[in-house]
Amino acid sequence: MSKQTAASEFVVDVRALVKHPGAHRHVTLDGTLPGLATPVARVADDAPIHVDAEVESVVEGLLVSGEVTTRVTLQCARCLGEFERDLRVRVRELFALHPGDAEEEGYALLPDDRLPMDTMIRDAVVLAFPSAPLHSPDCAGLCPVCGADRNVIDCGHQTEAGDPRWAALAGLDARLAGDGLVPPAGDGLVPPAGDGLVPPAGDGLVPPTGSTLHTEEEDDARP
Ligand SMILES: [Zn+2]
Ligand SMILES: [Zn+2]
Repeated sequence: MSKQTAASEFVVDVRALVKHPGAHRHVTLDGTLPGLATPVARVADDAPIHVDAEVESVVEGLLVSGEVTTRVTLQCARCLGEFERDLRVRVRELFALHPGDAEEEGYALLPDDRLPMDTMIRDAVVLAFPSAPLHSPDCAGLCPVCGADRNVIDCGHQTEAGDPRWAALAGLDARLAGDGLVPPAGDGLVPPAGDGLVPPAGDGLVPPTGSTLHTEEEDDARP
């Protein structure tokens, strides 16, 4: 039940590589890393994480390059439904021989010549999470009037018809979703769902005119 055992799945003994520049070793690792989550994306605590990497000894330390793959659960930015996707992230990081060399950024070997990849994996996976996932490029989203999931039912509200803003957004989302889960380098291009998407409808808000109440009838009650 210890969380430390999970992390140790991604620690590699590299005594044979350290201080032997040019030496290299291929490693494949499998494990889990609890707590990988953002508001719209997460890797389940028990979801398998696979690492396939080449570890190369260089003068400064060890260079790790390869791929991390796992399964991610996402929340659609339009319909708020949850869906799953495979996530594949490329990594290429230098692990410094001495922790002091990695003060600014980057990673370092453990003192006993072990290579701890868990933090690198965490960083890579979370950075690869999309900021505004879509379960489908043409997700119809929620009805701004009644909140119904338009992918499931047709509630009859037509507020989006003919609004050119929808067409522009649809095209943008399709482009972003087209290349899978590759992160858009931090510039949130997709505006949050529900922001300004509701055109001010002129109808449906005025109460019917035929419901005027005739209160004088109360006074007509004759004993
Ligand atoms: Zn959706
Ligand atoms: Zn509706």
